[in-house]
Amino acid sequence: MTHNYDDDCLFCKIIKGEVPSYTVYEDDDVKAFLDISQGTPGHTLVVPKTHVPDIFAYDPELAATVFSKIPAIATAVKNSNPDIKGMNILNNNGKVAYQSVFHSHIHLVPRYTDHDDFA
Ligand code: ADP
Repeated sequence: MTHNYDDDCLFCKIIKGEVPSYTVYEDDDVKAFLDISQGTPGHTLVVPKTHVPDIFAYDPELAATVFSKIPAIATAVKNSNPDIKGMNILNNNGKVAYQSVFHSHIHLVPRYTDHDDFA
């Protein structure tokens, strides 16, 4: 499958293997890798392999493909550690919404105990 990359995009460089990452899951459409700044242990980002800046720029078919994979990837992350009791799933779009990397990504933030000490 061919993907469109943005040569200046950090996450495109991760997808191409030009910047290292710890891969959690990968297929033809998406890559999931550990966030470099772990909100909680196992904090994972899921990205489309094609460069899409944010939710407003998705082709609907690609959006359906990418977002349909979130439950299975989230479940795999949860099943990786019996101490994971729940998960926050977040997607920031636009600078005003605290998006800092402009390649669409879904945060999977495992939660370990009720009201734990993590962010
Ligand atoms: P925010 O920085 O406010 O969380 P985003 O929703 O755009 O904004 O999230 C970008 C995420 O990308 C951050 O959680 C950040 O830690 C992560 N990140 C930045 N550089 C890398 C990298 N090289 N590898 C993995 N994750 C990264």
